[in-house]
Amino acid sequence: MRLLEYQGKILFEKAGLPVSAGRVTSTPEQAEAIARDIGKTVVVKAQVLVGGRGKAGGVKLADTPQEARAHAEAILGMTIKSELVESVLVTEAVDIAQEFYLSITLDRAKRKAVLIFSTEGGVDIEQVANSKPEAIARTWIDPLLGLRAFQIRGVLFQSGVDTALFKPLSKLIRQTYDAFTQFEANLVEINPLALTPDGRLLALDSKFIVDDDAVFRLPDVQGFGGEVQQDPLEQKAQDAGLQYVKLDGNIGIIGNGAGLVMSTLDVVQLAGGSPANFLDIGGGATADVMKKSLEIVLSDDQVEGLFINIFGGITRGDEVAKGLIAARDELGIHVPMVVRLTGTNESEGRALLEEAAIAPVASMENGAEQIVESVQTETS
Ligand code: GDP
Ligand code: MN
Repeated sequence: MRLLEYQGKILFEKAGLPVSAGRVTSTPEQAEAIARDIGKTVVVKAQVLVGGRGKAGGVKLADTPQEARAHAEAILGMTIKSELVESVLVTEAVDIAQEFYLSITLDRAKRKAVLIFSTEGGVDIEQVANSKPEAIARTWIDPLLGLRAFQIRGVLFQSGVDTALFKPLSKLIRQTYDAFTQFEANLVEINPLALTPDGRLLALDSKFIVDDDAVFRLPDVQGFGGEVQQDPLEQKAQDAGLQYVKLDGNIGIIGNGAGLVMSTLDVVQLAGGSPANFLDIGGGATADVMKKSLEIVLSDDQVEGLFINIFGGITRGDEVAKGLIAARDELGIHVPMVVRLTGTNESEGRALLEEAAIAPVASMENGAEQIVESVQTETS
């Protein structure tokens, strides 16, 4: 789950990281009021999940509350990289003596978090990586040992930052790592991390990505609920207790048991097709669950065919057949459908299907070939 800047900064504050005072709003009037409360020059900042807001005109300094209102008026309703700006953060502007870059992110190849620090902050870090790679210092963090003091010092030495800043920067880096672990992040990035002329360090921006699978145990993050950007179909499936993952293809897949569904994806791919989703109805699914599953898979308008692959153990073939028939009649399924049904109550299930003019296939491989062929003839 990606967080907006102001949300990331709320988590920063909880981890003890210094941020400048500010509040978020969706109206120019409120922006003016916040600026008046702050009583100094403020920055009005578009709250969107994409980066590069500064360059897109989504970050503006305002010397007076009236100016803050005018900037908010201009920024609210803007689109930045096709994302509509619905709120702005109005925050105290600080003077900047130097800008640093700091991030902690997962390095999947190394199976460790990597800490990155650079004195070339404020700008696009990818650009720095290209033009001046020696300006980027890194260290990998052992998940069991945590971030050790010598690693922080090593990175700071490597970066060439003024040694007078080692102490406050070390503290701040440790707090950033605390935020990263405490809020189960995949990424925490501060760019710029500002040094003020009077020697204070402040996180002027935040990019925060929390592991989706950890959100349920993070009340602070759940509090941001409105901003969760879950795929609506995946959400619907989750609410129905089904395991659904949206994929890029056009053949809807339903099966019972994660292993069987994975194999089904493979055989469809092998037969030259492209799965539209993964959907596991689990063990012991009833006719009702079958119907719900079809509803979810069919709400994806990329789906041009269905392959249902059920291995009956505790799931009963006749229940599945009943669900399928009911769903076909109620939902008016208009795409080709191939059903493989085996195991418990197989013959009852097949009989029901045949009565309803849905011919079950003999094997999983057969079924895959058949659905791929039907979809190809339909679309060609
Ligand atoms: P981004 O463009 O989406 O990364 O947004 P940032 O929050 O990083 O803001 C863009 C730029 O605006 C920063 O790199 C700073 O140079 C500048 N900026 C942001 N906040 C302040 C501030 O409080 N004071 C000053 N002087 N500049 C700021
Ligand atoms: Mn930034």
